[in-house]
Amino acid sequence: MNKPTLAIIIPCFNEELCIEKTVEKLFVVLNSLIKKNKINSDSYLYLVDDGSSDTTWEIIKKLHSSNNLVKAQKFIRNYGNQKALIAGLEGVREIGCDCVVSIDADLQQDEWAIEKFVDEYMNGFDIVSGIRNDRKTDSVFKKTTALMFYKLMNLLGVKIPVNHSDYRLISRKALELMSQYHENALFLRGFFHELGLKTAYVHFDVKQRMAGKSKFNFVKLMELSLNGITSFSIVPLRFITVLGFLMALFGFIVGVEAVFEKIFHNNAPNGMATTIILLCVFGGIQLFCIGIIGEYVGQVFREVKARPRYIKETELK
Ligand code: UDP
Ligand code: MG
Repeated sequence: MNKPTLAIIIPCFNEELCIEKTVEKLFVVLNSLIKKNKINSDSYLYLVDDGSSDTTWEIIKKLHSSNNLVKAQKFIRNYGNQKALIAGLEGVREIGCDCVVSIDADLQQDEWAIEKFVDEYMNGFDIVSGIRNDRKTDSVFKKTTALMFYKLMNLLGVKIPVNHSDYRLISRKALELMSQYHENALFLRGFFHELGLKTAYVHFDVKQRMAGKSKFNFVKLMELSLNGITSFSIVPLRFITVLGFLMALFGFIVGVEAVFEKIFHNNAPNGMATTIILLCVFGGIQLFCIGIIGEYVGQVFREVKARPRYIKETELK
């Protein structure tokens, strides 16, 4: 295989404190790989400004004017990290590259793992997934919820490894396949798993955020995980059917038992408390199930409108 042209995509949302340093550090990696003859010298960076309200875009413009290997695109508003990644992938597909790596703007992921990604690509893997060695830098809350999410996804039949991340390399082939998936809220971690292409895993260390604050909050993380579940598994819907059946069966048996007691023992069951508890429990379960169905209806609603995934304001190629 010829040495590849590598593109690195970086989603940026209000990253004025990080972006310059990040670009500099990534060029050190690119130049080292070029020197080692592992990638082509036209390998480049592709930044996606996800509607930042700070000076991120001004900095990007400056970087682009001093170095043409910094390419970029700007959204008209904030669409979220997944959309920025998708835009990056679509952008570099158009510009051209043999493989593409996505990495965060705060460079929390060890950027030197890119060399291992490229090695695995040269070994014939179409997808090289970065797996975090640990979650030392995450809060206890984020650690627990992330673990719960991956366990739940596995339980629901989407077998993505725990501590998976959006730090990965994908080949041109995977990029081309992506263009056939038109769903609006494409969940990349599930999608690349579902493609079933040859996948290698590379472990990397997680560092502290270089500067600034995390751009993810609880609501954004919940949205991401709910989208992951509803776009890749219908097991929760089946679960509701089974649950409903079991509850009906239970009600039927209790009913038969009550009639039996009345006829043969003349002993009508009483118990206000039991009635209230059962009412609340079953009422709660029903609302919970309607909520789950609602998530899927919401997913259908969002997809059926077929709105554009994002709107590009400008692009610097
Ligand atoms: N990000 C984005 N849009 C958003 C939120 C985040 O493009 O709405 C980018 C952000 O600039 C960074 C990456 O996604 O490059 C990961 O975000 P962050 O580091 O804040 O998340 P964390 O590491 O805390 O999970
Ligand atoms: Mg981060």
